[in-house]
Amino acid sequence: MGPVSGQVIRKGDQRANPSLPRAGPIEDTVTRPSACVWCGAAAQAPSTRFRADVWKVWECGACGTSYIWPRPTQEQLAPFYRFQTYAAHTYGREDHRSLRNPRRLSQAFAQVEELLGGPGSLLDVGCSVGHYLSEGKERGWRVQGIELDPATVAVARKRSQAPVQVGPGLEVLERSAQFDMILMSHWLEHTLNPRWQFDAAWRHLREGGCLLVRVPNGDSRAARLFGASWTWFYPPVHLTYFGPEAFEVAARQDGRNLLFARAHRGDAQSFPMELGFAAARRLYYLVRGHDLLSPPVRTGVHEGGEHPYRPSLMRLVDVAEDVLPLRAMLGRWEDSELIVLLRQSSSTRAT
Ligand SMILES: [Zn+2]
Repeated sequence: MGPVSGQVIRKGDQRANPSLPRAGPIEDTVTRPSACVWCGAAAQAPSTRFRADVWKVWECGACGTSYIWPRPTQEQLAPFYRFQTYAAHTYGREDHRSLRNPRRLSQAFAQVEELLGGPGSLLDVGCSVGHYLSEGKERGWRVQGIELDPATVAVARKRSQAPVQVGPGLEVLERSAQFDMILMSHWLEHTLNPRWQFDAAWRHLREGGCLLVRVPNGDSRAARLFGASWTWFYPPVHLTYFGPEAFEVAARQDGRNLLFARAHRGDAQSFPMELGFAAARRLYYLVRGHDLLSPPVRTGVHEGGEHPYRPSLMRLVDVAEDVLPLRAMLGRWEDSELIVLLRQSSSTRAT
């Protein structure tokens, strides 16, 4: 019997059933993406940079973006973001003034305020416990946020006294909602549908408004050198790995005004720390047989338990970096984070 329309055929099936047609490769539509999750191009290949044993990573031949495929479900992802166990929320239990490198919060705002001529309305997508909401309010912005985990939303509301919606992304917004600035800080790589979210942000920007995106730089030196041992390779929490080219391609596709897509250190470790962590992670994998950052992922189910990152360790690293003048010495080597700024203008406004 020939294949039924819509039936999935794997290569193994061909050997098992000699009556199936032999000519040409048979498309595995379950595990092979038909198009890039970011730019929609058809040329997709298994990633040679990120080789993971549980979540498969694919790379786009057109925009260079790497991504987990098949995508997990939102239900599979939710447990990873619980307030008690998710590391980024853990740092958030501290006051935002005592966070690692608080200057970065101020820098991001200052950049946009200069373009807009002052503070306006801000939407922080994936606002975690609300650092940016608090900072924005102090600077005179009207702020609101979106966050996935309800317990984290409760903390964000309490700390920032700002409206925060529970949800996976911009689909929770009112259709008519408009903002002067939309911030996606270390969030786009977590979403199941990054391009839809990126496009939705554009629709919710006021004329002249800015979209500020910060993501791990999947094309950084550390990512290229360390691959699946790189600090920010963290499936399935990080689902998509962007390089600068991804944003250049996306801006070109829709005629959007890309002010810059630039690599810098951002929230990353310094390069020597990246090196040390990658070595430790690789060693852990060799000895224990599973990954340091995501042991529960082996079963596809997150059972809870504390994340191996500890804020006190991060603090120690910061002190060490201040004592040894590593930041200044290694500045030009640092490219682990991408910061991208786009601006809505009448000539580029999407309809
Ligand atoms: Zn692509």
